[in-house]
Amino acid sequence: MTLACPECEGPVRLAEPVRMSEIAQCADCSSELEVVGLDPVTLELAPEIEEDWGE
Ligand SMILES: [Zn+2]
Repeated sequence: MTLACPECEGPVRLAEPVRMSEIAQCADCSSELEVVGLDPVTLELAPEIEEDWGE
């Protein structure tokens, strides 16, 4: 499914089934988004816990 990014309103794709606390990344603004609700599916900016951009 595709949702609107809460930051830039760009399309964010989520794999289904969507699960709580799943992290998605906006392709437009690179924000990390967390699933905070499922009915309806709601995205919020994920808190920046640590900077770990390595593979
Ligand atoms: Zn965005």
